[in-house]
Amino acid sequence: MDFNTKVIHGGQVHDPSTGAVMPPIYQTSTYAQTSPGDHKGYEYSRTGNPTRTALENSLASIENGNYGLAFASGLASIDAIMKLLEPGDEVISTNDLYGGTFRLFSTIFKKFGINFHFIGMNDAEEIENYINSKTKVIWVESPTNPMLNIIDLQKCGEISKKHDLMLVVDNTFATPYLQCPLDFGADVVMHSATKYLGGHSDVVMGALVVKDKELADKLYFIQNASGAICGPMDSFLVLRGIKTLHIRMQRHCENGRAVAHYLKSHPKIDRVYWPGFEDHPNHDIALSQMNDFGGMLSFTLKGNKKSDAITVLENLKVFTLAESLGGVESLSGHPASMTHASIPKEEREKTGVIDSLIRLSVGIESENDLIKDLENALNLV
Ligand SMILES: *Cc1c(COP(=O)(O)O)cnc(C)c1O
Repeated sequence: MDFNTKVIHGGQVHDPSTGAVMPPIYQTSTYAQTSPGDHKGYEYSRTGNPTRTALENSLASIENGNYGLAFASGLASIDAIMKLLEPGDEVISTNDLYGGTFRLFSTIFKKFGINFHFIGMNDAEEIENYINSKTKVIWVESPTNPMLNIIDLQKCGEISKKHDLMLVVDNTFATPYLQCPLDFGADVVMHSATKYLGGHSDVVMGALVVKDKELADKLYFIQNASGAICGPMDSFLVLRGIKTLHIRMQRHCENGRAVAHYLKSHPKIDRVYWPGFEDHPNHDIALSQMNDFGGMLSFTLKGNKKSDAITVLENLKVFTLAESLGGVESLSGHPASMTHASIPKEEREKTGVIDSLIRLSVGIESENDLIKDLENALNLV
C-alpha cells in the first residue's frame, strides 16, 4: 500500500458489530466476561481499548512497523522507553533536543542512575567516541528542535547495529510523510502525536512504533504496568488526524518553503535555519533521507536583540504566539524563553538557541497571508 492509502486504511477494519466505517469511541473502562477469563480480547481499558487499538494499528502501518503503542503524551511515551533501562546504563543523545525530553532525562532518569551524553550529531561518527560497555541507547531527533539540524539516520542505524544498541528516533518534526526511521535501522520510532499526527492542536498524545515482537511486548508491559495510556476520545481524534496527514504535510512543506525563501531575502534577518537550503550544513543528508523539508523553520535577527524578537512575536497576527507545533494553524515561538527555558543559557547558546531566535511552525493557511503577516511584524523592528 502507498503511504497516501495507508494513512486512511492502514491497519483498519470496519467495526464488526455494526459496520461503522470509523471505529466507535469505546468510552468504557471494562468489558463483560461470560465466564472468568473468558472475554472478547478486552478486559480493562488501561490494558486495551478497541478505539486505541485502531489507532495503534494505524500508527504501526504508517511508520512501516509491526506494533504501535499510544500514550497519554509524547513525554509519557519517552518515559516508557527509558523504563527499559537499568541503573548504570548509558544513553547517547542529540544535544539539540526537545526541552521537555532534556528535562526528563537530566532530572528524573539521571536520579535513577541512568547516565546521559548529550552530543552534537552533525557528524554521526562522533557517536562512536561515546560508546562503552554500559551504553544501551542512541537517542536521535531529526530534524532537531529548534535548529533544524539533520542527523544521518542511515549511519546511526549502522552504528547501533554494529554495537548492538537500541536506536530511538523522535520523528515528531518529520512524520512518516517525510521519513520512516525504521527503514534506516531504528528500533523504536517515537512521536509527540500532539503535533503533526493529531494535526489540529486539540489533543496531547504520544506514540511508539517498533518492528520487533520481543521489544513490543516489553513496551506493552510497561504501558500497562505504568498506565500512562491515552483515552478513547483522544485515540479517535488522532486517528482522524492521521487520515489527512499526507495532504496537510504537503501544504506544510509548500508553505514552509515559501516562508523560508521570503525570510532569507529579508534585510533584517540574519540566518534562516531550514534544511531545504543548499547551504544548510546537512542539506545533502536531508535530500537523501527525507521526501521534502517540512513546515518547521527558525531564524535570527540582525543585531540579536531579544527585544526585537519580542516585537516581532507580539505583532504577528496570523501566526499565534504559542507553545507546540504541527497544527493546521501557524504558530510562532521564542525558544530561549519558551520551549528551551529549562535548558541552561550557556548550554542552549552552544547549540544556537540565542536571544533573537524565533521558531515558526508554518501552518496550512494562505502563503500570501503568512508572508504579509511577517512583513508587517518585521517592519516594526
Ligand atoms: C512536543 C514534543 C515532545 C513532547 O511531547 P508531548 O506530547 O508534549 O508530551 C517530544 N519531542 C518533540 C520533538 C516534541 O516536539
